[in-house]
This record gives sequence, structure tokens and C-alpha cells, in this order.
Amino acid sequence: MRFEISKVLDAIEGRVCVDPSLARAVLDLAEVIRYQDIDGGRPASLLRLGMVIDALSRQLEEDSVQVYAVVHRALLSDADLTSNERMVVRRWADDGLVEVLDNPGDRMLEVADLLGLPVLTRARLDGLRGRFPWVAEEPGRVLAPVPGAGGPNLVAHVGGGDKPVAGRRSPAGAKLLTRQWRCPESGCALFGGGGGGSFADLARVQRSPAEQAPPALRNGVPTCPRHGTRLRDVGPRPRTEVLAVRIGGLVRRRFVVSEEQPVLVGRAPEGEGGIVLGQWLNDEARRWISRNHVHLELRVGEVIVTDVSTNGSGIRPGGSMTEAERIPLAPKQSRVLGENDMVELYPGVQIGRAEELPAGAPFTPTSVMAEAPTMAMRLPRP
Ligand SMILES: [Zn+2]
Repeated sequence: MRFEISKVLDAIEGRVCVDPSLARAVLDLAEVIRYQDIDGGRPASLLRLGMVIDALSRQLEEDSVQVYAVVHRALLSDADLTSNERMVVRRWADDGLVEVLDNPGDRMLEVADLLGLPVLTRARLDGLRGRFPWVAEEPGRVLAPVPGAGGPNLVAHVGGGDKPVAGRRSPAGAKLLTRQWRCPESGCALFGGGGGGSFADLARVQRSPAEQAPPALRNGVPTCPRHGTRLRDVGPRPRTEVLAVRIGGLVRRRFVVSEEQPVLVGRAPEGEGGIVLGQWLNDEARRWISRNHVHLELRVGEVIVTDVSTNGSGIRPGGSMTEAERIPLAPKQSRVLGENDMVELYPGVQIGRAEELPAGAPFTPTSVMAEAPTMAMRLPRP
């Protein structure tokens, strides 16, 4: 039983990040885990994060959506969580997957402002409307997760709709995200590298600078939100392009290609960082699509796709679904992916720029809790 819960928590772990290109909403983890009315279970449960992520996924009509979680440090020792859950949150904190702060204050809204993301919260934000006018002005920018029949629903604070709406990155956010930042504190999980050489630094998951969180701004100075220290500018951030995989008309996963990190996509790519499609493919698609099928890289701002498969791929110029316009991409061939182009690995299995790849089918989301759905529904009461 504990093993099954661990599997669900591992699945949820794949949905938390501070990556400005992939996060789709911001939330306060300490708040979300206490939405007891969602399932009537324990006072605090990390599984509620999974339920809220599922609600976001349903509303965005997209699989594998990720959230940016800000959390007070006290949560790491919250006695209402199980020891297993505390261990998991500590791991997320150590790996820099969530932002752990001594005083979160209005950081959740600052992140949403810098990145142009919607906020998921039940908190009233009246006092912050002056600093963040979009809280009161933009429908769908702030949504409350509320209990619903099939898991939580989202209700917008303004306008009462249920669709999360992304805004624009603020000018400050756009500027901060062109640079890489370093915290002087040794082993800083968010802006690491300052101390250098410590065991904690070496053990840390190596992540691309393109995934770095947005700095906090204190009196206009880029600051580590955890340590309150002034961050050092250590050079330009690598350019990135956000791509997405669409299968059977549904966006199943977004991913980032940066100038430093090319990406392999296929049935089950070798090595780390590959995009695994196997779980979404039917038998015929699985037979056709190679383990490593296409290689994507970003070079001087251009996305270059190279077929590395046995059977080849195709390009759909401008996203055209007309068969006569499909351009074959033979094994070992490369091509620059134009603005609206899609590369098609197999009929119905496409990759393109995330913004240009709308879903085209009724959405049936895959729950992040799917690995052990009965566990999520039957939480033991204390
Ligand atoms: Zn720091």
C-alpha cells in the first residue's frame, strides 16, 4: 500500500517544476494540501496536489501539465503529512523542483506576474490588486480549486468561468529571463553553483540553465527568493523553443529544446531527457515508430529536425493536413522546422511549436493519479 502511494507521489513529482517555459500555473503547496473538503480525507495530503493538477489538465485540455509550486519551509516538517510525504517534499526542495521559502509573502503572485501564469488559490488577494492589477482585471488569471464530483473544479475569482488564462510575461520578467543568475549561498537549490564543490552541489540533479526559476525583484534588484541575497548575472540564458507532441489530436506533452540541449523523441529513446511516446501509442504506431525516431535541436534560433528512425517521418508544412502537401523526411534527413510546420512520426503523431499546435479532439485526460486510482479515493482517516 505504501508502495502504491509512493508511485503516485513519483508521478506527481514529474508535474512540479520551476521551469518558466513549462509551468502552466502557480500555486502555494501548503495551501493546496489542506483542501480537506476535496476528498474528506486527512487534514493535509500531498495527493491533493495531484487532484488539482488533474483539474488544471482537464481545463487546459492537455496532458502532462506542470505547475510551479511555492511553499513555506514549515511544510518540510508538517506533522499532518505522513513521514513519506515529508520525505518527498524535502526531495523536491533539495532538487529545486519547488520553491521553498522562509517567508513566501507575495512570491506566488510575483512569479505569476513575471511569467504571465494563472494562479490557483482560494486566498483573497484584495490587498495585492494595487501591485498586481491583473488579479482584479483579467478573468481567468486567478482560479480557486473547489470540490467537484469527479475531483476539484476551478472557478475564476473574476468572471466566474473555469478556464485558466495565461497573461503576458511582465517586461521585468521577460528581461530577467534573458540572463542566468547565481546565488552566493552554497548549495542554493534554485540558483546553485555559488559555493561549488560541496557534496550537496555534486549530488544535485544537473539541470539546464534554461530551466532556472525567475529571480525575485527586491527594489529592482534580482534577488534569491530563498536566501534574500543579491544574485550575480553569470551570462546569457540559452535560447529555448517550447515544442509539443500531439497524438490523436491531443497535446500529450510539452518539452523544451534549447541551444544546449537537443532532444530525442521516439517510442522509448535512449539516455536522459528523451521524450517517451510509447504509453500513448496503439500497436501499429508502436511498431512503426522507432525507439529513437526524431532528433530536435535549436541552432541560431532555428528548430532543426533530423530523422533517426528506421521508417522515416514527414513534414506537414504550415500544419497542413492535406496528404498531397506532406513532405517525406527520409531516415537521416534533416530539415528546418518552419513556424507552423509539424513533423509527423506516424499518422496522427505530430510535433510542432506548442503555441501553434491546438488540440483537435475531445479531451480524455490521463490522470496523474492513474497509477493507483483507488489509493487516491480511499485515503485512510487518522
Ligand atoms: Zn539562494
